[in-house]
Amino acid sequence: MTELRLMAVHAHPDDESSKGAATMARYVDEGVRVMVVTLTGGERGDILNKAMDIPEVHGRMPQIRRDEMAKAASILGVEHHWLGFVDSGLPEGDPLPPLPEGCFALEPLEVPTEALVQVIRDFKPHVMTTYDENGGYPHPDHIRCHQVSVAAYEAAADHRLYPTAGEPWNVQKLYYNHGFLRQRMQVLQDEFVRHGQEGPFAKWLEKWDPDDDLLGKRVTTRIECAKYFAQRDEALLAHATQIDPNSFFFTTPLEWQHRLWPTEEFELARSRVPVRLPETDLFAGIEGR
Ligand SMILES: [Zn+2]
Repeated sequence: MTELRLMAVHAHPDDESSKGAATMARYVDEGVRVMVVTLTGGERGDILNKAMDIPEVHGRMPQIRRDEMAKAASILGVEHHWLGFVDSGLPEGDPLPPLPEGCFALEPLEVPTEALVQVIRDFKPHVMTTYDENGGYPHPDHIRCHQVSVAAYEAAADHRLYPTAGEPWNVQKLYYNHGFLRQRMQVLQDEFVRHGQEGPFAKWLEKWDPDDDLLGKRVTTRIECAKYFAQRDEALLAHATQIDPNSFFFTTPLEWQHRLWPTEEFELARSRVPVRLPETDLFAGIEGR
């Protein structure tokens, strides 16, 4: 039996646990080798969990985020690689402040692309996942993550490019994560209302830009992974400085999610193998499947 390999490219530590984590856990369970590549160290992440907003944490964020990431990777059963760039932070204010010197989003595209090409040629994934051109949400590192991943998907296969970064490797398929769907939120919100509860999503749904509904239309691939939702939540909680255990991520009972929305969603963005859409498997059409 051929070994299958999946590589998930993410901007910061914790992104892997909030986007496609249950899918990764499922593939690990099926014997697929899964590697998460995190492009930055997440050094500029705010502490979003009050319980962790303490002096012992503040001076040690880079190390703490490494420890959190290692714990999440072990919960999901994935291999992990740091690409080593510096978090750009989320610029806030009007006008937006300039990006900090030396950060990931200011690196010339070919620098992180070559670094990722090297990891791709080494790990030889059949399938890669990343974000769409909007980054999933408008963090400069997420948009850059998209650009670097697409460039590296193309370049890794081209022997003329980055010849010192290893032997060319054809990744067969490239996907975008699409976990943040209006329809999913609506279905879960309706269930809260049915139970006479206020529900955490009403405000989100109210201010949702109608154009964002298009995202749902871009989904090509639904992965059944409800069995792994608990593992996903545990991995997310491992990022203790970033995730408030009382946040909306955890308010929907798992039983409702199993019943009402048992999948994670992806968009097939590039393929070097023939495909038939929609799909229920990221490896559909790949030899050895
Ligand atoms: Zn992020």
